[in-house]
Amino acid sequence: MPRQILVTSALPYANGAIHLGHLVEYIQTDIWVRFQKMQGHQCWYVCADDTHGTPIMLRAEKDGITPEALIERVHAEHSRDFAGFHVAFDNYYSTHSEETRFFANDIYGKLKAAGLIETRTIEQYYDPVKAMFLPDRFIKGECPKCGAKDQYGDNCETCGAAYTPNELKNPYSAVSGAQPELRQSEHYFFKLSDPRCQAFLRRYTREDGRLQPEAANKMQEWLGAEGENKLTDWDISRDAPYFGFEIPDAPGKYFYVWLDAPIGYFGSFKNLVARQAAEGVAIDLAAFIDADAAAKAGTELYHFIGKDILYFHALFWPAELAHAGYRTPTRIFAHGFLTVDGAKMSKSRGTFITAESFLKTGLNPEWLRYYYAAKLSATMEDIDLNLEDFGARVNADLVGKYVNIASRSAGFISKRFNGQLAPADAGLPAIKAIQEAAPRVAELYEAREFGKAMREVMALADGANQYVDSVKPWELAKQEGKEAELHAACSNALNLFRLLTVFLKPVLPAVAAKVETFLNIAPLAWADAAALLAGGHGIKAYEHLMTRVDAKLIEKLVEANKESLAPAPEQSSPQRHAEHQEKAAEKQVAEAAHCSIDDFMKVDLRIAKIVEASQVEGADKLIRLQLDIGEEKPRQVFAGIKSAYDPAALVGRLTVMVANLAPRKMKFGLSEGMVLAASDPDGKTGGLYILAPDAGAQPGMRVK
Ligand SMILES: [Zn+2]
Repeated sequence: MPRQILVTSALPYANGAIHLGHLVEYIQTDIWVRFQKMQGHQCWYVCADDTHGTPIMLRAEKDGITPEALIERVHAEHSRDFAGFHVAFDNYYSTHSEETRFFANDIYGKLKAAGLIETRTIEQYYDPVKAMFLPDRFIKGECPKCGAKDQYGDNCETCGAAYTPNELKNPYSAVSGAQPELRQSEHYFFKLSDPRCQAFLRRYTREDGRLQPEAANKMQEWLGAEGENKLTDWDISRDAPYFGFEIPDAPGKYFYVWLDAPIGYFGSFKNLVARQAAEGVAIDLAAFIDADAAAKAGTELYHFIGKDILYFHALFWPAELAHAGYRTPTRIFAHGFLTVDGAKMSKSRGTFITAESFLKTGLNPEWLRYYYAAKLSATMEDIDLNLEDFGARVNADLVGKYVNIASRSAGFISKRFNGQLAPADAGLPAIKAIQEAAPRVAELYEAREFGKAMREVMALADGANQYVDSVKPWELAKQEGKEAELHAACSNALNLFRLLTVFLKPVLPAVAAKVETFLNIAPLAWADAAALLAGGHGIKAYEHLMTRVDAKLIEKLVEANKESLAPAPEQSSPQRHAEHQEKAAEKQVAEAAHCSIDDFMKVDLRIAKIVEASQVEGADKLIRLQLDIGEEKPRQVFAGIKSAYDPAALVGRLTVMVANLAPRKMKFGLSEGMVLAASDPDGKTGGLYILAPDAGAQPGMRVK
């Protein structure tokens, strides 16, 4: 039975460009969706621009256009960028739509009827010149801790302190410059602290598979112990002037993001259902959205999100849906952030790379899709785009291993055999190995273990290349009387290539389409891995499938994204635009950034005695250390402390090492740990100080 699956990615805010950080999520989701479709499941992938809020309203005003015109322009830009990276939504819509308004009103009405909406008077900064209440990010002033000027209302970019806008010294409105006044206003709240929500969430977040294990643990922390009530009510309203949906029974009050943006998932889906109906495809809307109908139909709903909006998607959203009679998410898949060359994306370094510039510079979007796939797992760990490794990996795997199989054999079939294949050898070990791997690779895709899937596929490609190397078509072609052998060898190679294409198709849809044309076959589905091309099957002329990554292109890309003196913008998930940074969310996210005692205890710190220290020939920064931690033989560690220490002076000293780091193979040998040293964060003073324990500590003692 085909599954019925609805999949979403978080909604990008309609006030900025799509960048490579965003694309981690859209590419991850798109790969998963394409895989489901190849399995023959009915899978719908919807998304939308998150279009409401004060930042959009003010930005439009500044540009001298209506908010509608602004979001329309951005919608076109976002759609162009996603299409450029082959992110194939079934519907890419807008939250500024009647469908979304319908669901927002409906959910609000049902929550209110259930007694879960409450009004409260709160005090908030008001701009008397603009005649509007100010979101935290639109209030600036002096940091209450360090006195730095021009800081935002939620945290200081100079000293990192977090505070409320009321604590700012000499506050002013970032909109008009006026001194803001504290004014009272009535706001609407969703009572997340209600015992019904608590009880529901305790059950929901613990259910098998709903959340990734690390996310489920986080939820238990956020929910607190049984009987504890740690959840706070969520402000769901804003005062006019505001660009959004007016609350039906509250003139001058508008739904704030929590009761508007994610509802856009359903708004987009409702719009898709209507569009499909116009094309004669019937989708049962209720079966995907209504709690009872969904349970009966067995439909599935998956949200792909960034880890920073986990609190919202795993607590607020399911609680809101469950108490309005809507279906709740089957699973929530959170991913980590993107770093570039091991650091936060930065405009000054040129690593805050927009989707548009990537394509404009002439880089192939499937290079990035493959690289992300090779790095992605089912966890919330950050993934790193190492610009050097990027080119090396794509060239070695896609060009060197995969495309190479076809490019070495296709020409002979066209030139010597009139484009017709010989029957494939179904017993060939390389062919059998790929066919037998199909269920295993499918499991890895299903579990979002794309990195493992790519490693598996590349190992199979190695096997295919070994076969081609062993039969050497290019030599057979020069020998008399070897026609049949050449024909068989090239036909086997193209069958191997076709099978690998099945496995890579979710990641490389454009290449797969070219392969389907060249092999003259129908679009590949997963089940096609069970079959081989018949003898006599005619193929078309081979066309170049993929070029190598040129290092110069990467340099050009980084240059194109460099903006000197621009501060590093904050990287966050879609659906977490500046205005979302309300205190509650801010606090929860700050908690998420903490390290739990369990996490800390995973690090095995030991007192180590430096028994040997020597220079490393050819290394500018490293010293080779032999460290005694009470084991049979000392550990070898390469430490980047050459600038600060003479090796001879280190011998005999005690220090602290991380003993359970995975050993790392370096150019100079194996490094089996790490020593700890202090330095100032910017590295300005250049000083480096290794740690030393107090007298009496012995090698091998645990540090905790
Ligand atoms: Zn400060």
